[in-house]
Amino acid sequence: MIKYRVLILFFVIPLSVLSQAKKDFFRDLTAKEKNVIVNKGTEYPNTGKYNKHFEKGTYHCKACDSPLYKSNSKFESNCGWPSFDDEIKNAITRHPDYKLGYKRVEICCAKCGGHLGHVFEGENFTEKNVRHCVNSISLIFKPEKKN
Ligand SMILES: [Zn+2]
Repeated sequence: MIKYRVLILFFVIPLSVLSQAKKDFFRDLTAKEKNVIVNKGTEYPNTGKYNKHFEKGTYHCKACDSPLYKSNSKFESNCGWPSFDDEIKNAITRHPDYKLGYKRVEICCAKCGGHLGHVFEGENFTEKNVRHCVNSISLIFKPEKKN
């Protein structure tokens, strides 16, 4: 019996530590940010800070600061949200989403699980044929350092 208790502790403790750590990433977000990043909301089109933003640098996760997209993968899709045709390797996770009654693919930050937006394929916007449609409010831009 004792053996089982020890085993259970081994499984339960890391899980609770992990979910606690994720909650901490979201603790300092504003209500508006939480609505998108935690509750998977969507900002209104053409309202986001980075929709028409084309400086050189990196877009990081607003919640946990993990680097997600390089500016050279950003393109103008005129869809009303920042669009990227590639992510930084292993920075993003994909999840099927049927909330609107058909399948979309939700994208989240791989580190903290924060909601970013959705990814679409086959629209022929760029050669890579992928569009990450990302809420500006989920991102924080860091300009390239000039030496
Ligand atoms: Zn994150």
